[in-house]
Amino acid sequence: MTIEKRPIEQGEWVDCWICAKSFARRRGTMRYCHTCERGFCEGEHGSYSGNIATCVICAITKNQGIRRAASRGVETRLQLRELGEVIGRMKGVPIEEALAEVEKAADEQRKTWHSNARVKSVIATIRAEAAARAIDEACE
Ligand SMILES: [Zn+2]
Ligand SMILES: [Zn+2]
Repeated sequence: MTIEKRPIEQGEWVDCWICAKSFARRRGTMRYCHTCERGFCEGEHGSYSGNIATCVICAITKNQGIRRAASRGVETRLQLRELGEVIGRMKGVPIEEALAEVEKAADEQRKTWHSNARVKSVIATIRAEAAARAIDEACE
């Protein structure tokens, strides 16, 4: 517990930490952020979602975390798709079938595939083909 949460719980006012830090002004508040446990002025420097108060700085940080996690998810799906294409080509099965197998596979198995020389060369081929297609389309 920080020094600010305690006085608020005991009914005392504290300064909004964002006002103090960004504008060097004191604005009393009895709200504190549930994430960083510092006081913030309601409306301007924080808000309530349900019963949880969050200051604007923590809200931004949290959103960035969510966005980062989302973009990691997209990346992983693209990698899986690519791996599915590779396995499909190597085994001569449809991509969808290979993709299902890749999705079911354990992380260890995927790592093994990714470090396989043949898989690497097929990935390089697929990427080169995709690049060539992109150049063709750009020239048309
Ligand atoms: Zn403020
Ligand atoms: Zn906060």
